[in-house]
Amino acid sequence: MSLAQGRTYLAIPGPSVVPDRVLNAMHRASPDIYAPALFEMVRTLYPDLQSVARTRGEVAIYIGNGHAMWEAALVNVLSRGDHVLALATGPFGIGWANVARGLGATVDLLDFGRRNAVDPQRVADVLKSDKSRNIKAVTVTHTDTATSVRNDVAAIRAALDASGHPALLMVDCIASLACDRFEMDEMGVDVAIAASQKGLMLPPGLGFVWFGEKAASANARADMVTPYWNWLPRVSGTEFYQKFDGTAPAQHLYGLRAALDMLVHEEGMPAVWQRHEKLAHAVWAALDCWGDGGPVAMNVAKNARRSHAVTTVGTGAQDAGKLRRWVEASTGVSLGIGLGMADAIDAGGDHHFRIAHMGHVNSHMVLGALGAIEAGLSALAIPHGTGGLAAAARMIGSA
Ligand SMILES: *Cc1c(COP(=O)(O)O)cnc(C)c1O
Repeated sequence: MSLAQGRTYLAIPGPSVVPDRVLNAMHRASPDIYAPALFEMVRTLYPDLQSVARTRGEVAIYIGNGHAMWEAALVNVLSRGDHVLALATGPFGIGWANVARGLGATVDLLDFGRRNAVDPQRVADVLKSDKSRNIKAVTVTHTDTATSVRNDVAAIRAALDASGHPALLMVDCIASLACDRFEMDEMGVDVAIAASQKGLMLPPGLGFVWFGEKAASANARADMVTPYWNWLPRVSGTEFYQKFDGTAPAQHLYGLRAALDMLVHEEGMPAVWQRHEKLAHAVWAALDCWGDGGPVAMNVAKNARRSHAVTTVGTGAQDAGKLRRWVEASTGVSLGIGLGMADAIDAGGDHHFRIAHMGHVNSHMVLGALGAIEAGLSALAIPHGTGGLAAAARMIGSA
């Protein structure tokens, strides 16, 4: 007998659950890419993508995943030998820094470890000491998906302003867009990137780069720009094929149309952010109880610096892999693996897992995942405090 028969739930932080409506919108024969129907539909995507990121800036759409957007964003604004100040609060911030280095930039890495957010004062200090203005860009993840640390983008912007440094502020929003509040223009972000398979509720395959005027002028001087990644024809080309530098990914784009209808036109971005915040608090309420007198603990101590899309959990000396496997086999819920935590904190073992609460997710899905984890903690006799699920339910029911 298995209690896992029925609809499974992939609660990993990307790819996230794709709504049936999006799947149905994608399930169609390839349209004629030279006919106006596709062109007219694609035209409607841009203003809605601006609404999702809260910007009046431009947005280029690419066929590619998040790693591709790391590269796309950098090559559009950098020249060989430029310095990049890379801020890291986990493996994804370091990953973007490595891409910059691989492209030929000189990377100054400020690593804040795996539990803490970026300290804006240290950013300001580095920028002030860069008297010859070699640093052309500051890169940072809004949320690092491995550690679930969420950075204060507005505070980092304030650090740039306080130091009077002209570097571009470039933000990886891949794990946060359409989950955590992100307002590109209000936060003073010059370049933002995202991919389709997280908060945007699509399969992987589309990537997005938003950019403001300052980044657009950097593009005119950058010598790393390559024909495929150049964002200019994608936003200002007069021929439809220039939008994607070749064949448009039509099925994905119809899926995106459906996802944007749901997010922007039906739920509305403020409500999308509020839903994620509430669900995150329910997850944390359960974890607070489980951690009482046991090894289970959230990776990030402060509420204010925790992602609303994913929560990284440590299990002390207990085997997190065993818990994940039990939960999957016995309840049909797949939890995220610990990513990049092994060397720093785990001493080589498997002592972290992640709960995604990202994208097409509601309270019954979160309560179900939490109930599944609580069952696993009991079944495997992992020491934990009681009342986690009840605390999460009270959080969901609170005003
Ligand atoms: C998922 C993710 C990436 C990488 O995206 P891929 O599509 O897997 O290449 C990069 N940065 C962050 C913050 C992410 O969450």
